Amino acid sequence: MKYTVGLIYGDGIGPEIVREAKKVLDAAASKYGFELDYERLLLGGESIDACGLPLTDETIAKAKKCDAVLMGSIGGDAKVSPWYKLEPSKRPEAGLLKIRKELNLFANLRPAYLYNELKDACPLKEEIKGNGFNIIIVRELTGGLYFGERHTDVIDGVRTAVDTLKYDENEIRRIAIKAFDTAMKRNKKVTSVDKANVLDSSRLWREVVNEVSKDYPDVTVEHMLVDNCAMQLVMNPGQFDVILTENMFGDILSDEASMITGSIGMLSSASLNDTKFGLYEPSHGSAPDIAGKELANPIATILSAAMMLRYSLDLDNAADAVEAAVQQVLKEGYRTTDIYSEGMHKVTTTQMGDLIAERI
Ligand code: NAD
Repeated sequence: MKYTVGLIYGDGIGPEIVREAKKVLDAAASKYGFELDYERLLLGGESIDACGLPLTDETIAKAKKCDAVLMGSIGGDAKVSPWYKLEPSKRPEAGLLKIRKELNLFANLRPAYLYNELKDACPLKEEIKGNGFNIIIVRELTGGLYFGERHTDVIDGVRTAVDTLKYDENEIRRIAIKAFDTAMKRNKKVTSVDKANVLDSSRLWREVVNEVSKDYPDVTVEHMLVDNCAMQLVMNPGQFDVILTENMFGDILSDEASMITGSIGMLSSASLNDTKFGLYEPSHGSAPDIAGKELANPIATILSAAMMLRYSLDLDNAADAVEAAVQQVLKEGYRTTDIYSEGMHKVTTTQMGDLIAERI
């Protein structure tokens, strides 16, 4: 079988980590007998430099023809990068929001998993870590506050900014279905997170989630307020299986969940639409502070490539092999700087990619 994979190298450490993920994908392709054609796509700062816009119609059209897209991360250091002197709609992040919308990528799946080998990197107390945790956050990605109407005006001499948070029942239903389907393949528990004591959109959210839950009698559903969830994640992360939430809450909670694993360079993500298509990227940003220094951990991107093999290309054996190779390399004690501890072997970005590819 032959598949077309869009590659967005992106900014900062993006080119280094995508290069390593491609190396691992190529090793998996030759071992498992499938072919990958790569289509280079521009997004973010790289696209601004080449075309004056963070996302062009050409990139959207090419992405739509791919089976899946693998991406590094986009964006620069806002304090020094000229990209941030542009108006907000022309900055790198605007390209990312737009491509999610154009490709209808409404579901963002972000695992937060505590690797046994990296337990020491988890900042939580021993008694809280317990037997570890394995959470997946299912975040609505194309609605809510980030896509609502917004404007800034001067009203009676006072600068006033307005953002709008809107969800309709169809947007809530389709993401809830993704969360319940995900839970069915895991520990069959969904924690739906909202702010129903204050927000109308959250009250509708809760109602629709309860309706969807009726089709999944095997899945336990609970509702939690977002402020409580933020606390519970650092008090008792082991209680969670699937966390389902809206766009902004998901943005914040998924970063919190990544931090408690102690290794942001290890966490993958998938953004999916109603078809098999998905955009796969690490959970972290473009880390401009370490770009080009061979310090970046490529594992989050490599694990995102594994998710792509599983969810978009249905190559489960190859996906399992990539994940097992990552685990093996960690077991053997190899670490990039961000996850290094005494007694381990410190390796560069390129060496980490080589080691994982060799173990496929
Ligand atoms: P960041 O995730 O890029 O970096 C936070 C810290 O983690 C930094 O110290 C960085 O060196 C470290 N880090 C991140 N990834 C790492 C890796 N793979 N290996 C080793 N260390 C790693 O977050 P930030 O500094 O807030 O943002 C930098 C830029 O990234 C900004 O322009 C931001 O807008 C952008 N960003 C992009 C995405 C995306 O493309 N989806 C997501 C988040 C942030």
